[in-house]
Amino acid sequence: MSRFFSSKYKNLIPYTPGEQPKDTQYVKLNTNESPFPPSAKAVEYATEKAKKLQLYSDPECRELVKTAADYFGIEKDEILFTNGSDEILNFAFMAFCDNEHPAVFPDITYGFYSVFADLNGVPYEKIPLNEDFTVNVEDYIGINKTIFLANPNAPTGIALSVTDIERIVASNPDGVVIIDEAYVDFGAESVVPLIHKYSNLIVTQTFSKSRSLAGGRLGFGIASKELIADMNTVKYSTNPYNVNSMTMAAGVGTLLDDEYMKENCLKIAENRQWTTEKLAEMGFTFTESKANFIFAKHSEADGKKIYLKLKEKGVLVRHFDSARLCDYNRITVGSKEQMQVFIDTLKEVLEEIL
Ligand code: PMP
Repeated sequence: MSRFFSSKYKNLIPYTPGEQPKDTQYVKLNTNESPFPPSAKAVEYATEKAKKLQLYSDPECRELVKTAADYFGIEKDEILFTNGSDEILNFAFMAFCDNEHPAVFPDITYGFYSVFADLNGVPYEKIPLNEDFTVNVEDYIGINKTIFLANPNAPTGIALSVTDIERIVASNPDGVVIIDEAYVDFGAESVVPLIHKYSNLIVTQTFSKSRSLAGGRLGFGIASKELIADMNTVKYSTNPYNVNSMTMAAGVGTLLDDEYMKENCLKIAENRQWTTEKLAEMGFTFTESKANFIFAKHSEADGKKIYLKLKEKGVLVRHFDSARLCDYNRITVGSKEQMQVFIDTLKEVLEEIL
């Protein structure tokens, strides 16, 4: 740290992204990317836009907003696009959290929430998940704070029902509820339709997972036009050109090629089912994942040892060191070929360490 670093950030512990190694060609199952390339239409549209990079991108993302509004059945002023969904989540922390509206989220969830809270100097409270990693819905009823819930949750993949989310949203009319649907397309149900019923609901989604555009950095929030306007105030006060023009074009191409996304999600669901069956045969237990990852622990083998041995053999999964998570590994569901290599390698690892 330099002596010039602002005192307000001196205790900030940044988010640690999953490893992106360049040394070895790993079977990379650690950051929940899609194993499938972006839609051909997305690549075509982005390539065309690259020829106009001398111009600023459209700060209002008009073409993308129009395409997305048609896609989701919403008005154009009910959506805001950002540089990945991390950015819309940060905007929500900036716009809707303060001393009167502290942030609230589960103790086990997406690690960036507490970093955004610290970055913005807002108070926050972590509510412990149940022993089985499910959310205790009653903990969120009538608290009227700014609630962040990933649905499905990360790294467990466990999803809440629409009914439970609606209960939480309806019981907190004086608090904004942000439902982070980064993984929703892999098997959970979206609450986007509820934004017309509840003016305190924000739904965030990303193009990074089911839409194969992690490197393009595109996310968005859908909410009442008043909440979107508030987040636009934050956006225009930080970076009006937050989405670059190639990514915007890729986003349009992706939405117009929805069949491709849906086919890929089906393949991931099949590969998730196949992998969990194999894991169960090998003595693993796991949470019921509705996402593109599996959160699994072995009855005897140590979670960290499994992670390190897999890595040695060229398979990368995500391990978390914290007390409640350290027995587990989070395994991104990739292509059938990748999952076959993962299972074969895991067999070797278990033979070595048991
Ligand atoms: N929410 C959750 C739960 C995530 O796991 C991630 C991915 N790390 C994000 C949001 C952000 O993804 P992106 O910024 O790529 O849209």
